[in-house]
Amino acid sequence: MIATHFLDLLYLLGGLSFVLGLKMLSHPDTARRGNILAAIGMALAVAGTLFFHPSADTFSEEERQMKLILLYSALAVGGFIGWRAAYKVKMTSMPQMVSLFNGLGGGCAALLAVAELKLQFDHSGHPEAAGLILVLFTLFFGSVSLTGSLLAFAKLEDLVKDSAITLPRHTIFNLGLLAIILGLIGYTVWGAGHAGMTWGLILFAVALVYGFSFVAPIGGADMPVVISVLNSCTGLTAAAAGIIYDNLVMLVGGILVGASGSILTVLMCKAMNRSLANVLVGSFGGTVSGAAKGPGDQTVKEISLTDSAVLLNYSASVVIVPGYGLAVAQAQKICKELDTLLEANGVDVKYAVHPVAGRMPGHMNVLLAEADVPYTKLYDLEEANDFIKKADVAIIIGANDVVNPAALDDASSPIYGMPVLEVWEAKNVIVMKRSMKSGYAGIDNPLFYHARTKMLFGDAKDTLQKLVAEVKAL
Ligand code: NDP
Repeated sequence: MIATHFLDLLYLLGGLSFVLGLKMLSHPDTARRGNILAAIGMALAVAGTLFFHPSADTFSEEERQMKLILLYSALAVGGFIGWRAAYKVKMTSMPQMVSLFNGLGGGCAALLAVAELKLQFDHSGHPEAAGLILVLFTLFFGSVSLTGSLLAFAKLEDLVKDSAITLPRHTIFNLGLLAIILGLIGYTVWGAGHAGMTWGLILFAVALVYGFSFVAPIGGADMPVVISVLNSCTGLTAAAAGIIYDNLVMLVGGILVGASGSILTVLMCKAMNRSLANVLVGSFGGTVSGAAKGPGDQTVKEISLTDSAVLLNYSASVVIVPGYGLAVAQAQKICKELDTLLEANGVDVKYAVHPVAGRMPGHMNVLLAEADVPYTKLYDLEEANDFIKKADVAIIIGANDVVNPAALDDASSPIYGMPVLEVWEAKNVIVMKRSMKSGYAGIDNPLFYHARTKMLFGDAKDTLQKLVAEVKAL
């Protein structure tokens, strides 16, 4: 009895730490502590379950030993893999890792639902409809999250090409699968009687196929949204599992993941100016081209390091636009050095951060915080577009899609309608990248041929190091 109360207390502390941790994650200054706090809460919940959960009393001693061996082995193997993966993962590969971990969470919830389904049909031939619907809901969303996230991982990791597994009328195929799934849920609950377990397993199999098929036609710049949708699916699944098992910490954790995933999905759709339905059935991604071609006979103008240094140093205001290339090159610290140097010479330096710049939400904010760039110097899209108009120089460091004017003026472009940083409004534009290759969405960028744009080719870190040396030498 005391053990049960103590477990409830640990779950309560765990739930509280998730809420506070999430709150602290919303600001770079407190994010690290928030993460640690939530991790401690999770550790308390896991330890509490291991040592104080009453279900342990219902097993014979032999069964208990066996289950504990399995449990601790799984914890050791899973913990080791998670720890190594977290250590080794590069910041630019975080979406893949989030996707993989998210999928495994969904898979766990789906397996719990299968076990619960068996329990319900073993105990009574006709489980109560409400409880059964909840279990089937968990089974469905958990399965979709598992296979959908695994495919998203493979796409982000470039193991599978975006368009490789898309059928001619894929949306109709998916709608057909959904209709079958709804039919299976209805039949398992109200029609299957004692055969409900078998029909539940058929539902499990179809839901796994659906998860895979749901993600198959989505690609390119829409991947962050789909990861976020799957993330909220896992959260909802965990919350439903929390209700099934009357487990407070699972319920709170699930609700938080489900709600934050849903909010993030809405924000990302807003950032791209598209509806969620359009993202999920729209096949947004383009195909990657080797090199961008100028429209007509337009040519690209290059700028030397010395000219760039002079232009930057004698400007009144400079806007830095960081992108994925800055993250890959790990150029954030040298970027900050250039910023400090320019500010010391009287230049006003600001950063314009697009909500989907880089490869994960908040990617640029995290990188720049790591380099000690004050948060007050970072501006989001709307504010940034206001002051870019007055800036002397916009310097784009490894960004591409987020500064593509085609999003505003080319209705045939796959990114048409997505708000972008209107850097071409600045008096001068310097684009720093290695080649004319396209960005994540795989489309050409007319900015590179714009009258005010000059290209500074090279690796972002290397070029910035040379630029800093040039500015120092002025
Ligand atoms: P992009 O992917 O559009 O472009 C990045 C550019 O960086 C490339 O064109 C590349 O050109 C250049 N680059 C790569 N490596 C280097 C390097 N070492 N030095 C200098 N330049 C380099 O990046 P953006 O940040 O503009 O846009 C992000 C894109 O990613 C959007 O399409 C977004 O939807 C998508 N996305 C965003 C996620 C998020 O949550 N933020 C998650 C997943 C995808 P080159 O090869 O010529 O150097």
